[in-house]
Amino acid sequence: MPELPEVETVRRGLQSAMEGATITRAQVNRPDLRWPFPERMAERLTGAKVTQLRRRSKYILADLDRGETLLIHLGMSGRMTVSGDPLGQFAHDHPQAEKHDHVVFDMDNGARITFNDPRRFGAMDLLPSDNTETHPLIAKLGPEPLGNDFHESYLAERLAGKNTPIKSALLDQRIVAGLGNIYVCETLFRAGIAPKRKAGAISETRVHSLVPIIRQVLQEAIEAGGSSLRDFRQADGELGYFQHTFDVYGREGEPCKTPDCTNKISRITQSGRSSFYCAQCQR
Ligand SMILES: [Zn+2]
Repeated sequence: MPELPEVETVRRGLQSAMEGATITRAQVNRPDLRWPFPERMAERLTGAKVTQLRRRSKYILADLDRGETLLIHLGMSGRMTVSGDPLGQFAHDHPQAEKHDHVVFDMDNGARITFNDPRRFGAMDLLPSDNTETHPLIAKLGPEPLGNDFHESYLAERLAGKNTPIKSALLDQRIVAGLGNIYVCETLFRAGIAPKRKAGAISETRVHSLVPIIRQVLQEAIEAGGSSLRDFRQADGELGYFQHTFDVYGREGEPCKTPDCTNKISRITQSGRSSFYCAQCQR
């Protein structure tokens, strides 16, 4: 499942193909993904110019010159591919249409953007550009972890008095938007905080330390995506997924990476999700 760094890498990969370009043809091959597509979606997109490509949490937002914004959510298995892009450093020929290619955009610069999603947990919607923050998927989201509204005193205030484990608090999208299981595990390892520790019982100094660590963990992952992919693309033009090494995530039973720590990484289940941590280094 793509997390914020993967979505940001997809956004950057789409940018050169979509920003400033006009959708000359929008092909919509089914009525829905996770939810029905908006009415007349193909018609509303055809001829529209993409003025800006933004990201809010795990949603990509393409602002159109017609006052509407296209919201794209990759869901669990959504993949975006760019082909035929004359602006990219590497040209990718248009691939053969595949079974789960649900939406295809042809741009006036020659690029073709294909959204493929076998499990169909992804979504697309059209919303008024001047009101994107009130969309049901966005309205309840907390601040962006890489944005200015997310800072030390904000986080301390939101965690104060909370009886929930810190792991669950950081996964709560109302507190901070876009953080998922992988990067919360990595953050708590770097902060030396045990995932089960009650959020409200963590000292202010340690809570404050979480903010720069969260930013660093996400930035490093975004940079890893940028450096391991050509134009943020894989060899076949697919966007966004990259090899990244983690300190604790997916490393149950493997040695802790802290110098001088001889402990092995543990895994527990919290709210149905795996938490990976070092019981020695995280208290
Ligand atoms: Zn350790």
